[in-house]
Amino acid sequence: MMFLKKIQPNKIILFFLIFCFISCNNKIEVDLISHNGIIYSLDNNNNVYEATAIKNGKIVGIGKTHQILNKYQSKNKIDLKGKTAYPGFIDAHCHFLYHGLQQAMIDLSSANSFEEIIKILKKNNDKNDGDWLIGYGWDQNQWEDKNWPNNELLNKNFKNINVVLNRIDGHAIMVNETAISTAKVPLDTLVSGGYIEKINGEITGLFMDNAMELILEKIPEANEESKKKALLKAQQDCISLGLTTVDIAGLNKQDIELINNLQRTGELKIKVYAMLSDNEENFHYFIDSIGKPLKTSKLNVRSFKFFADGSLGSRGACLLKPYSDEKTTNGMLLQQQELYEEKLKKIKDFGFQACTHAIGDSTNRTILKSYGKILKTSNDFRWRVEHVQCISPEDIHLLKKYNIIPSVQPTHATSDFSWALLRLGKNRLHNCYRYQTLFEENRIIALGTDFPVEEINPIHTFYAAVFRKNKDGLPLNGFQKNESLNRLDALKGMTIWPALANFEENEKGSLEINKAADMIVLDKDILDENQKEILKTKVIYTIIDGEIVYQN
Ligand SMILES: [Zn+2]
Repeated sequence: MMFLKKIQPNKIILFFLIFCFISCNNKIEVDLISHNGIIYSLDNNNNVYEATAIKNGKIVGIGKTHQILNKYQSKNKIDLKGKTAYPGFIDAHCHFLYHGLQQAMIDLSSANSFEEIIKILKKNNDKNDGDWLIGYGWDQNQWEDKNWPNNELLNKNFKNINVVLNRIDGHAIMVNETAISTAKVPLDTLVSGGYIEKINGEITGLFMDNAMELILEKIPEANEESKKKALLKAQQDCISLGLTTVDIAGLNKQDIELINNLQRTGELKIKVYAMLSDNEENFHYFIDSIGKPLKTSKLNVRSFKFFADGSLGSRGACLLKPYSDEKTTNGMLLQQQELYEEKLKKIKDFGFQACTHAIGDSTNRTILKSYGKILKTSNDFRWRVEHVQCISPEDIHLLKKYNIIPSVQPTHATSDFSWALLRLGKNRLHNCYRYQTLFEENRIIALGTDFPVEEINPIHTFYAAVFRKNKDGLPLNGFQKNESLNRLDALKGMTIWPALANFEENEKGSLEINKAADMIVLDKDILDENQKEILKTKVIYTIIDGEIVYQN
């Protein structure tokens, strides 16, 4: 007390000024601070914070608002105003480039009959490139007449141009006679893992699965400029919905080079986990020539995507028993098992992951057995099955036995439930879309959309996974509600678990010190919001590597 009394008032002020000066200058300068939020870190303890400090694209501080503001300073601050932030969403299975390329094609998803398809095509005839008119998104399950269409009307209306119409799932095309003769397809071609439909010896215009290639390979590939445009358009659509990483299923060498270049120039900011298409060029280049995975901070090339069957919608998925609404067929396998297992062995030896598309219960059994043959025992190769749509209860344990990661699309369940019942019958449908059951095998599940088969919006994925309803709120009680994931697990399925499925759990998927600052801010708390409000959720910020790439 004596000491204080001796100090002059102006000295006290000076003391505080010096103290403040020193402490202010002790603050660490960072690139971006976000504060006053509810930040779901999704770290191991599911810690919730209020603020983050970001420098050089990484999280350097995370904690309470006063802690972060006392320790760090930045010219760029985001006041989250109580809103919720999450690790950036990852779509574990999508067709990002194809989504972008569709801008140059005709959307047929609104058609309710083939007559309507003709109308839409005529209205958009200017989208042809002179030789080819390409449409996508038709789905006879939405029509009154749910039988396969034929090309009679196409032939009548489009004689001088090649017309190719992709079914919504990408597992069937309808083409006109002109396209068939342009492609010079011999009428008697037999294709393994696909077929050209004939009725009474006449080609109907329907090409299924592997047979589609007979036509598709004749369509001139989009040039680099169109692909660049497509990628940037797809990026815009994705970041505005909170995606910071996309797992692109099925890419070739040139596409990957283009993506890599655009990421290097900074035009493509979204991160990409690339699944290589199963083709000779990719095997030759990535396995025989390079011989190891490729990795940059934004691109990871270390997996091969295989097609083991087709889709349920086009009855190409391979089932143990015949289709309930078409007793003459079980669907078919698209891989010759011996060759497939040789490829699996090869990619395993070179450190690549297998991602195999498997829809039918027969397919899932076959490929899990093949995986087992190669993997032999429990392991950390993180091989994935894409879709795992229908799986016999007696085969589910194989996921655990070989540490297989299920990569599923919750919106498929809520888009398919009504017609899937016709394809499979009630009992068998219970073996399908079993996300909670699949999750429990290894306590991991990776969620995606398969866009453009489904819409991009990850909020729909979350909603479908948790409430088992489509965006119209149907079915009212949820489809097979016992298979719903809880909210936290669904969120992890869109963040940390796909990161794990991509071997990237140490760099992204949760908000933690030293991880990439891939973060999104939403206007609703999806872990807490009322069910009916969740679908209205909007993205306020998307941040990739500390850079605000989208703001609303
Ligand atoms: Zn797909």
